[in-house]
Amino acid sequence: MMISRMAVRVILFLTLFTGLCVAQSKVKDPPSCPCSCGPKSLAPGDAAVQSSTNETLKAESLAPGDAAVQSSTNETLKADDSTSLYVCVPRNLALKATAVQSSPVQHNAKNAVDGNRNSVLASDSCSQTEEEMSPWWRVDLGKTYEINRVSITNRGDGFAKKINDAQIRIGNSLINNGNDNPIATVVDFIPLGETKSFKFRPVMGRYVNIFIPARSEILTLCEVEVFVD
Ligand code: CA
Repeated sequence: MMISRMAVRVILFLTLFTGLCVAQSKVKDPPSCPCSCGPKSLAPGDAAVQSSTNETLKAESLAPGDAAVQSSTNETLKADDSTSLYVCVPRNLALKATAVQSSPVQHNAKNAVDGNRNSVLASDSCSQTEEEMSPWWRVDLGKTYEINRVSITNRGDGFAKKINDAQIRIGNSLINNGNDNPIATVVDFIPLGETKSFKFRPVMGRYVNIFIPARSEILTLCEVEVFVD
């Protein structure tokens, strides 16, 4: 086992040293993950931080099974059994997914998942409900994920406080339009036009709701991004 591990390290080092990519024919399917995954080689001398031990490693010292975060790009890299390195960059699960909201007005729910954080309402990249009691917005991720981070871009041309106290709810139920699903976290405040990341204990779900309970309000969302880190 030790000989095999050493041999693999030597092969990996030689591959990287000569500047060649790991043989593509040996590349397995990327590990299943909600990420943008694909084979990638580190260049010789690239520094990476091993995720399990937090120690800095040079690329040639990575062994199969090692998971590492490349220090320059913050990408997670993993060496699998065939010595290939896979890049695993968190992917925005909400991008271009189906979105709906409590009231259809001129600013469609899908504007909040169009991949554009433009925060000027007139640019038509923000969703907006009518002023109504308990407005909500929901995105359907298409399948269940264990979600632990949601980013919200607030409107930038005024009315920043309208997002205050919005609940981020995640789950698989559509009862009460998904607004009865578990609360992942509550938005305290997002400065005008800024994108704020909310990290929380992982919550399983296909639907992500932004819900302002028991208040007559206009819900405006310029972008909502959903991640499994
Ligand atoms: Ca947008």
